[in-house]
Amino acid sequence: MKCSIEGCPGEYENRKITHTVRHKGKVVVIDHVPAEVCSVCGDVLLKPETVRRIEALLRTEACPTSTVPLYEYV
Ligand SMILES: [Zn+2]
Repeated sequence: MKCSIEGCPGEYENRKITHTVRHKGKVVVIDHVPAEVCSVCGDVLLKPETVRRIEALLRTEACPTSTVPLYEYV
């Protein structure tokens, strides 16, 4: 699929990404999220069902499989 960013000649390709969301004031990182990523500008598209699945995952408040160090850029 053609990139939706104006003037970008890239195409979206299926990739697994590390998705970061803010949930109840906390930063949540979800690894291996299927997404479409533009090969040129890096624009990321998530399918509606993927977004729903992430929301469901956050609602269950399942224990994370690991924790990541979080740095603030100052
Ligand atoms: Zn693009």
